[in-house]
Order: sequence, then structure tokens, then C-alpha cells
Amino acid sequence: MSIYRGHIGILGGGQLGRMLALAGIPLALRFRFLDPAPDAPASDVGELICAAYDDPAALATFGEGLDLVTYEFENVPAAAVAQLAPQLPVFPPPRALETAQDRLFEKQLFQACDIPVPPYAAVSTAEELQQAVNRIGTPALLKTRRFGYDGKGQVPVNHPAEAEAAWQQVQNVPCLYEQRVAFEREVSVLAARSRTGEIAIYPLVENIHRNGILFISRAPAPNAQHLQEQAAAYAQRVLEALDYVGLLAIEFFVVDNQLLANEMAPRVHNSGHWTIEGAETSQFAQHLRAVLGLPLGSTRARGHVAMINILGTIPAIEQLLALPGTHVHLYRKAPRSGRKLGHVTVRADSVDEREAAVEAVLKILEP
Ligand code: AMP
Repeated sequence: MSIYRGHIGILGGGQLGRMLALAGIPLALRFRFLDPAPDAPASDVGELICAAYDDPAALATFGEGLDLVTYEFENVPAAAVAQLAPQLPVFPPPRALETAQDRLFEKQLFQACDIPVPPYAAVSTAEELQQAVNRIGTPALLKTRRFGYDGKGQVPVNHPAEAEAAWQQVQNVPCLYEQRVAFEREVSVLAARSRTGEIAIYPLVENIHRNGILFISRAPAPNAQHLQEQAAAYAQRVLEALDYVGLLAIEFFVVDNQLLANEMAPRVHNSGHWTIEGAETSQFAQHLRAVLGLPLGSTRARGHVAMINILGTIPAIEQLLALPGTHVHLYRKAPRSGRKLGHVTVRADSVDEREAAVEAVLKILEP
């Protein structure tokens, strides 16, 4: 395929698809999205096929004339990928998608790669839950194996007596019962592997969540040099185990200065948005290079960077833009409580300067 005629299909048309296309347009790439929402944010930057992901006729139209298919959201039905995969290259590989769609498969993959995880048990009945509570204790979290994200599908179990009510709340679906770890902090690693096998790993990112939703990322993660090598080794093992192609994010808890893997995303990730202005190569450009088999770009951070999500309501944009060196991204989504509507990135030459910039942004986001 000539890069100059590259036509990429993306399953999902949310903000991640929108930012992928924004990164691909300078390389003369064209984009087509499949998304059930008629006003999907990515429709501003490419053709939108508005249909359900499991509509075979829409999938056939979507696939016509494309060079490859990728996705920006990991709950794409396996059947959609199965229909497209025989006709077109699909990256990341369908196995990565299947693994990331199920918290049990994900944990099993981490363990097979010798990556520590919090103590957990798979539970599919009330009796199994009781056994897990006896073995693992409390506090813990009952997490649905499938369709969980941003803290959704998670019920805290702070005392053994709460287990029964938690089981009712998740409505008898297969779950993981997972020890609630007293982490010092949360970090993530973004890593890419190209069709050629080349690997590139970004500096660790420190993440602060609010109500289970990412709020602030700082990169490179402060005082984390000693964890970088470990994170890179873990990411490399997962990339190679899955014969992965594209960008992958792995989220970790830091406990006693060690990394415990929480989950992975087989796609570009919110904790990588800082790379747009804050790294030599953005995660979006890197993903496109990887799936096209192009050389990967430098992952070097350009100074001290922070990304703050705009959640729920649109703040005073003029005030944000008046702050020097502040970059504002809006996804054109309707405000709704807790919804990711955009993000702000700040970049500075020192940690102190960066922290001052974060403070200034927070004052505007939360007056
Ligand atoms: P998840 O949907 O697994 O990413 O969880 C969302 C957030 O819930 C995480 O970023 C953590 O802040 C918290 N969380 C999830 N699992 C655990 C755990 N085992 N121990 C402590 N906190 C957790």
C-alpha cells in the first residue's frame, strides 16, 4: 500500500478516533469510522458510517476499499472483527481485543508474562464469591469480567457481610473478586509495536483518578526512574506475547515501590493524550505508524507535561486559552455528568513550573 493513498477504517468514532485522524491527516491518510452515534466526534474529520457494530451490511460497506482496520474502543463485538479480518488486516490483532474484553483473560495474560497482579479470584456463583471472600478477605472490589471501564461494573466489598448485596448489584454475571490494594500511586505505560516488530516505549505516566475516572496525568511520572525499566520490560512481554501491532496501554498500581498490573487497553489511551504536545511523537501518530509498518517515532517527553481532563461541564475556554502554553482540546460532545468532554495539556521546563500551570488550570476548571 502506498502511504499516499492510505485509507484507514476505525471501529468507533469517539474522541480517540477523532484524535487518530487529526494525527493522520498530515501524512495524507484518509479515515472512515463506524459508530452507532450520528453525531460521533470523529465525523468532523472523516467519513462516518452510522450503524450498529454488529450490522453485517454496514460492516461490508465500511470495509470497502480500505487498506486496514483498527479500533478506538475495546468493546467492539468480536463478531464485527471476525467479519472484517478475512478481508482486511485488523490491528491490534483480534486476540488482543478478546483478551482486553475480559478482566480474567487479561489477568491470566499478565500472569503468563510474569507480571504481578493484585490477589484475585474468578467468581460465577454466590458460593464461589463466598469462597473468594474467605480466601482473599476485605476490603475488595467485585468487578464484572466484561464491559467495565472508568470504574463502571465495580462494587466495593468493605466487609464480608456486604458480599451478598454486591452479588445482587452485579446481577449474577461472571466477575473477579479482587483485593483492594493500598497503592502509593497509579501509573501507566504506553508502548507501541510496529508491523515490522519495532518497539517504542514512552516514559511512565502518573495518573490521578476521580470517582474511577482519569482526571490528571503527569509525564514523565515524578520520581519513577526506578520503575521505568520494569514497566518497559512488562510492556515488551505483553506486546510480544500477543504479536501485537499498534499502541497499547497498561495501567499499574505502585505498591511498596513495585508495579502490580491492573488492566490494559489495546488502543490509544486517555493517559497518553499528553503526548500530542508533550512528546516528540504523539501516541496517535505512533499508533498509525505502527499499523502501517512505518518507522516508529521518538517517545521522548518535551519537558514536564500534565494533562487534565475536562469532565462533565465545559469550563471558561477563553480563560484557559489566556494561560500561556496551555493547549485546549474539545471533543464536541454534549455535557453530561462525569463525561470526558475534552482535555487541557500544559508543558513546562521544570516540575515547579508545571505544577503552577496545573494549579492555574484547576482554578478555571473548578472555580
Ligand atoms: P479499573 O476500571 O479497573 O481501571 O478501575 C478504576 C479505578 O478503580 C482504578 O484506577 C483504581 O483507582 C481503582 N481500583 C481498581 N481496582 C483496584 C484495586 N484492586 N485496588 C485499589 N483500587 C482499585
